[in-house]
Amino acid sequence: MSKILIVEDEESIAELERDYLKISGYDVDICANGDEGLYKALKGDYDLVVLDIMLPGTDGFEICRRLREEKEVPVIMVSARKDDIDKIRGLGLGADDYMTKPFSPGELVARVKAHLARYDRLTGAGKQANDIIEVGGLKIDRTARKIWVDGVEKPFTAKEFDLLTFLAMHPNHVYSKADLFREIWDMESVGDDVATVTVHIKKIREKLDDTTSDSKYIETIWGVGYRFK
Ligand code: CA
Repeated sequence: MSKILIVEDEESIAELERDYLKISGYDVDICANGDEGLYKALKGDYDLVVLDIMLPGTDGFEICRRLREEKEVPVIMVSARKDDIDKIRGLGLGADDYMTKPFSPGELVARVKAHLARYDRLTGAGKQANDIIEVGGLKIDRTARKIWVDGVEKPFTAKEFDLLTFLAMHPNHVYSKADLFREIWDMESVGDDVATVTVHIKKIREKLDDTTSDSKYIETIWGVGYRFK
C-alpha cells in the first residue's frame, strides 16, 4: 500500500484530503507543521508528499527544496495563491505538480494516482522487480538484502545473508563446507576456514529459529555438508 504524507496546517483541508486518499486505498499521515513535515518527509518511508506552501515553521518551498536534495519522492504542492504556483515554476524546486486551492479532492486523488504510477515506472526496475525468495516462514529480498522470519525482519551480516541466500537458491542440493566457503568467501579454503562456515550456519540457524534435530530450512548432512530444504 502506498504511503502518503500530507503537510497541511488547515485541519479541515488536511482531513478531507486524507479521507479521500484513504478511500482510494492509500495509507495517509498528516503533519500540520513545516518543521515536523520536513523531518517526516525526509525520514519517513513515503511514496508521495502533498505539500502546502504557507505553513507554521519551515514553509513548503523550503521543504520541497530540502527534500529534493535527498529524495526523488513525488511532491504535489498546493497553495491558495496563484502567484505561489508561478513561484514554484520559477524557482525550479523540483515539485512534480502543483494545485491551486480550492480543488476537488477527486482531482487530488487522480493526480496522486498518476504520479505514483509514473514514479513506479521510473523506479520500477528496482521497486517492482525485487527479487524475492519465499520458503515457509522465510522471506529473502535479494534486491533490498533484507530477511524476514515469520514476518519479522531479522538482521543478517553480509556473509550470513550471502550464505543463506545461496543455499535457498539451490534447494535440495548438498554442498560441502569447502564448496560453501569457495562460493561465499570467494577463495579456496585452507585449514580452519571451513569452521567459519560452521559458525555462520549456526548463527543463521539461530536467527531462523531452526534446529539441527528438526530443521525447517537447513539440514545437516553428516559428514558431507548442508542442504536447503
Ligand atoms: Ca497553509
